[in-house]
Amino acid sequence: MNPVFSELPNTIFDVMSGLARELGAINLGQGFPDDPGPEDVRRKAADAVLHGWNQYPPMMGLPELRQAIAAHYARFQAVDLDATKETMVTSGATEALAAAMFAVVSPGDEVVLFQPMYDAYLPLVLRAGGIPRFVNLRPPQWTFTRADLEAAFTPRTRAVLFNNPLNPCATIFPDEQLALLAEFCQRFDATAICDEVWEHVIFDDRRFTSMLTVAGMRDRTIKIGSAGKIFSLTGWKVGLVAAAPDLMKVISKAHQFLTFTTPPNLQIAVAYGLAKDESYFTEMRLRFQQSRDRFVLELNAMGFKPMHNHGTYFVNVDIRDIQGVDDTAFANRLVREFGVASIPVSAFYAQEPNRSTVRFCFAKSDSTLDEGLIRLRRAARAFGLRG
Ligand code: PMP
Ligand code: GLN
Repeated sequence: MNPVFSELPNTIFDVMSGLARELGAINLGQGFPDDPGPEDVRRKAADAVLHGWNQYPPMMGLPELRQAIAAHYARFQAVDLDATKETMVTSGATEALAAAMFAVVSPGDEVVLFQPMYDAYLPLVLRAGGIPRFVNLRPPQWTFTRADLEAAFTPRTRAVLFNNPLNPCATIFPDEQLALLAEFCQRFDATAICDEVWEHVIFDDRRFTSMLTVAGMRDRTIKIGSAGKIFSLTGWKVGLVAAAPDLMKVISKAHQFLTFTTPPNLQIAVAYGLAKDESYFTEMRLRFQQSRDRFVLELNAMGFKPMHNHGTYFVNVDIRDIQGVDDTAFANRLVREFGVASIPVSAFYAQEPNRSTVRFCFAKSDSTLDEGLIRLRRAARAFGLRG
């Protein structure tokens, strides 16, 4: 069997959600909202299942959705895309990441990765035959320096895989960091595969800049989005890809033999959703922000040390002061003894893991959060915090 996969553990998200189901725990691990998602968008999908086309859609995606992607990014991120040459629909951002990686990277090419990193990245790099070069982001701001990039980029660098806003750190990279990375991509002629799935899940009036709009990056960036995150419908797995025609041509060749197409009814609904008023996006952010504030306030009161959250569904807790447990032991005890599932952040590292941070998903209803908080309070007392 291929060692890239035979030596991999099951993804931590599935492990923790499995434990939560088995133990009846409150699941603050895997990132998905309780919210059922906008009813009008779901109704569009249902109508399309009953009355629409249920055969293969075009390989690049339905024209309506490709137009909607171009219009959406023009409206929100000042990106100017030719829908027919520069957009593509995939089965989730995960498929887009695979297609981009397989299209760009040949065996022996180096790929720069930032740790902590989403757990799909490294296996995709390795399966493409790529050689990972890691940059460790520096807490608490989770940023990198010029010296970090000098150490990671070489003449063999073919690509960089960059996630912004960043899961699990819950940060948005400042524009100066984007410019610094862009400088290195240009100097080393590297392609930036940019996982921007959290682009709309940002708080406190923060702004998000797509790498596509950074000077010098328009023709060397592959932008990846996810309707699952934009509409709180994580099971839908509709990915949105934007890239210059020369890149897109090859990415589409990889996509055609990964999944080829994505359910047309979901595509119709996502096309409708992307055109929704500004107010939908503002209200979605506000709802999550309120859950975040409620969760963080209570964690602080119990004596936990929550870190900042500028975007994503996640807040990390620093457990350095809790004696005798690393993040994995803490998460295991939390789910087994106290009935709350979380994600140990060491799962996002391939080497030199940070073992003192645990990630919680706050994108939940008030009642789920309240029950989770009652259980966390018990845990806090047992771990010697205020509780
Ligand atoms: N990238 C990141 C950073 C994510 O957090 C996620 C999912 N949470 C994905 C990719 C996968 O997105 P999708 O479900 O659309 O495949
Ligand atoms: N991206 C989600 C998270 O970070 C999980 C996605 C998955 O389960 N593959 O929690």
